[in-house]
Amino acid sequence: MKCYYDLHIHSALSPCADNDMTPNNILGMAAVNGLNMIAASDHNSIKNVRSFLKLREAYGVEVVPAFELQTAEDIHFLCLFPDIILLEKFYNQVSFKDIPNNKDVFGEQQIIDENDNIIAEEPRMLLVSADIYSYQVKDAVKNASGIAVPAHIDRESNGMISILGDLDDDYDAVEFSPYADEAFRKIYGKNRRIIINSDSHTLGTISEAVNFLELKECTAAALIDYLTGKL
Ligand SMILES: [Zn+2]
Ligand SMILES: [Zn+2]
Repeated sequence: MKCYYDLHIHSALSPCADNDMTPNNILGMAAVNGLNMIAASDHNSIKNVRSFLKLREAYGVEVVPAFELQTAEDIHFLCLFPDIILLEKFYNQVSFKDIPNNKDVFGEQQIIDENDNIIAEEPRMLLVSADIYSYQVKDAVKNASGIAVPAHIDRESNGMISILGDLDDDYDAVEFSPYADEAFRKIYGKNRRIIINSDSHTLGTISEAVNFLELKECTAAALIDYLTGKL
């Protein structure tokens, strides 16, 4: 079946995202836009994922457990998992630097419940690289039953190709920004699954129902099967 998706959306937990990027606002916008599946993929943190998961039935939108991992080389990976337990297990294995956030400079990092109440602020600065290198990420996430997708590989900032000059491994799936040109897509999308996400930090940029995947069903598990499956 066709699953319209946007698998790269930052909630108000990410300091660079708007504070109205709450679980209900994001899922409401996704539903209005006709999306079937989203992921709240905050920088180096998963603390709002459970709130999104509690709301998926209310909005009729599947939520894929995820976060955006920043490696030691400042490369971004979208890490997607079939369920929250596997996401949490992997996340707890990653070592993050404990540098306090200066919210006046970088923005607030809000932990929000399923009623959009702010229940805490994440004190650790989330825009800091984790203690893991890009060449380690693919297998580490695979061993945890998820998939690591090099994020926005056509972009200068935090994209693997601009930092390393090329992909550093044979990835099953890559993410393009909506602005990747046809020539780039042809070269780096060859023999791989491709996803195109908005990387939204604001409500107004969440994808419309444009990009879709043909999945067995619109579930996180079927998505992981598809992305890790051979072409
Ligand atoms: Zn990124
Ligand atoms: Zn992002």
